[in-house]
Amino acid sequence: MDAQLVSELTGIRSITSEQDAEKCLQCIPKELVPWDFLWSLETKDRVVAYKFCLLLWSITKDTKTPQVPRKLQLKAALSVYQHRSTLVVAGTNSGKTLVVILLVLLQQPGSITVMLSPFKRLQETMSVIISELSQSMKIHQGDPDWWKSHVFNRKTKSLGAVDILVTTVEQCFRSDSGHLSQMGQLLRLPSFQQKVCYQVVDEIHEAFFSGTPLYGAHAFRPKWGCIDELRRLSSTVPVLGLTASCPGHIMASINKAMGTPTYFHLQSALNRQNITYAFHCVVGGLHVPENFRCLVSPTFCDPAKHMRILIFCDNKQLTWTVRNALESFLPDEWKGKGVVLHYHSFMSQAYLTQAHKAFTTEGGLCRFLVATSGESTGVDFPDVDIVVNAGLPPSRKDKLQRAGRLVRREGKQGIFLILYEPWVNEVDLSEYENEWIIDPDRPRKKLATHASQRDRAPYSIVAALQKRECERKSDAKYLSDEHETAFIFTAKECCDAPEHGSSFNLQEYLPRKIYTQEEYDRDHPPPTKKPRGKGKYREKPQREVLISKLKHWRRSEHIANPFRAVYPEWRILHDKDVERVARLRPIDMLSVDDLYKCLCHEPSNDWKEAWGTKLFSLISDFDCSQSPPLISHPTSKKRKRKESDTQNDVPSPSAPRLITRIPVPPTAVTTEASRPCPMPRPRPMPRPNPKPLPKSFLEPNKENFDPFQV
Ligand SMILES: [Zn+2]
Repeated sequence: MDAQLVSELTGIRSITSEQDAEKCLQCIPKELVPWDFLWSLETKDRVVAYKFCLLLWSITKDTKTPQVPRKLQLKAALSVYQHRSTLVVAGTNSGKTLVVILLVLLQQPGSITVMLSPFKRLQETMSVIISELSQSMKIHQGDPDWWKSHVFNRKTKSLGAVDILVTTVEQCFRSDSGHLSQMGQLLRLPSFQQKVCYQVVDEIHEAFFSGTPLYGAHAFRPKWGCIDELRRLSSTVPVLGLTASCPGHIMASINKAMGTPTYFHLQSALNRQNITYAFHCVVGGLHVPENFRCLVSPTFCDPAKHMRILIFCDNKQLTWTVRNALESFLPDEWKGKGVVLHYHSFMSQAYLTQAHKAFTTEGGLCRFLVATSGESTGVDFPDVDIVVNAGLPPSRKDKLQRAGRLVRREGKQGIFLILYEPWVNEVDLSEYENEWIIDPDRPRKKLATHASQRDRAPYSIVAALQKRECERKSDAKYLSDEHETAFIFTAKECCDAPEHGSSFNLQEYLPRKIYTQEEYDRDHPPPTKKPRGKGKYREKPQREVLISKLKHWRRSEHIANPFRAVYPEWRILHDKDVERVARLRPIDMLSVDDLYKCLCHEPSNDWKEAWGTKLFSLISDFDCSQSPPLISHPTSKKRKRKESDTQNDVPSPSAPRLITRIPVPPTAVTTEASRPCPMPRPRPMPRPNPKPLPKSFLEPNKENFDPFQV
């Protein structure tokens, strides 16, 4: 930041009289200033609000989009500035982040703001937004050395140059192994606590959705359920909670997270008026590639001219399936060039950053991003034209978050489309009358570890779909949004509900013809009757090729293993398992879990990390290279099994990474020059324990061996 701007900001901060502030305000175009609101304030508050306007204008006046805070942002910032804990409930793209920036711009010298963020991706987004507005604000992103030297000096008890720390919740608490990070230690240091002027909790609804045990399952990110502990550490500091989803049934969790029952509640209109909502029942199931054909233009020739489409999936295997399906509909010259990318939490950070950039930047090549929920919260996509949810979203809150990624530029319109499978229409709504009746996102019954998609289907979505209710009305009811603009839409159509008439035609929103039942029946004729027993296993010629490949892979891995002298080859994969794995049909191995189930013994976590993903990738690549395509529609029994592989996929820094499927795209780019975005790299495989091994390990009893206990 140049010296002139620094002195300008210092000058604004030192203003004390209303006249001086009004004089300075003359440099801002009158139509940008919310005068009605400013004049409704008392003089003392008005001067502070003037300063907020002037500070923001000063740091943005030379950018593409000079800004002045809006009424809601000023209201929220003033409330926290007056030392009141405040909950801001405002729709996606409403500028909640700007409230934090205003507060930091006017915070006392020698003080610091601490902000809790749910996702690392969001942490990065915040970093970029704030850095763009002010170079003086630096963000902690987890680098301990930088942090140690810049944030707080324990000896002199003084702060560094940092004005705001953005951290994930997990970084503030002890890890499962009992380690307390530097951030956690610092937050518990009384000399640091005295320097904290504001606490901000972004996406505060996660205290319920991630931090609370729900429907018989454990809390997905239990640390979110403990953030009231942080509040107690700095109980006199005002907290600012930010959310776009605050339905009544989660208020108890939000109250606990805010740590005070007397906070100021500020709610704006939550309706995104430029979005059209639609449902579409896919043919055969989500695994049928042709169901995604409608998203790829038949005349695709230039990525820059194609719509930008974001597809959400709730399990990693489905991201892979959808990515392959979309890729198959591209012209040959664009296959494997990075036009379609997939994105989930177990991929390398370098790949995720590149994929995100390729999709979101102006000249980025990626036009289709197939992602899990990590891309749904707080991430700013400037002009996504279509957001698709492949399957039912886990909750209406997730639906709203995902739809919120759509066209965020004024004057543009977009469609949010839920692709669902036929079984949704068969679900009996009376089964939802259970113990969680006040929770609109409740499932039909307690969730087991491998609960199927059908078991997880939330009432709020299933009921709206079956009753064909207006989606905008369902959202308003869910969010208790009584704002006068809750049902208004500027998009061409509101949604596909019959109450808006019968003219809605989904095809008009999509670049290609929707796959029909007739086409499906033509492409998938009923199987001719097979002799008893045939077809249960992979065909023999194919099986033999795969066995050879598996043995070759095992040999290569063993040679590359520095501990091969004490780590026999059969510990990587026993001959019995080679046979078993090769026998399994592709349709029976849709996830790494299917692979583990097929093995002779339950594999250890070490084995899974070392070999599970590699082995699964090898088999997937083999299947992809076979002709005809091996993705065919499963029988109802197998479909049931496939459904059971679906689980929530919010990245959890504290969660152990047991299943590490690292996809290796079959259409890898061959030259560095032609590669627009690096493909995911396998993580380094953990080495076997180099410590002295027990005698039984070195001389295994082959009668009772356990090949997975490394
Ligand atoms: Zn509607």
